[in-house]
Amino acid sequence: MAGGWSRDGAVNEQIEASISDELERMRARRAPVGESLTHCAECEEPIPEARRSAIPGVKLCIDCQQERDGAFRTRGGINRRGSKDSQLK
Ligand SMILES: [Zn+2]
Repeated sequence: MAGGWSRDGAVNEQIEASISDELERMRARRAPVGESLTHCAECEEPIPEARRSAIPGVKLCIDCQQERDGAFRTRGGINRRGSKDSQLK
């Protein structure tokens, strides 16, 4: 997995720098998309601590999330399938 250019010291330093860059990027990718909210963005109900730690960056309370998921699934699913079909035909 070591590339062809890990031979001299100067290059090694560069590689180490790019590895920590890479780690930084991986960490950023894994990091939540923003902070968890203490209160729902929709209805301002307090979001339970357990939910906040289970879902990093959570923005909605359980009720609002379920509502949104449900609406998304029924509406989005049918629409998406329909538009795909009409595109294919
Ligand atoms: Zn809510």
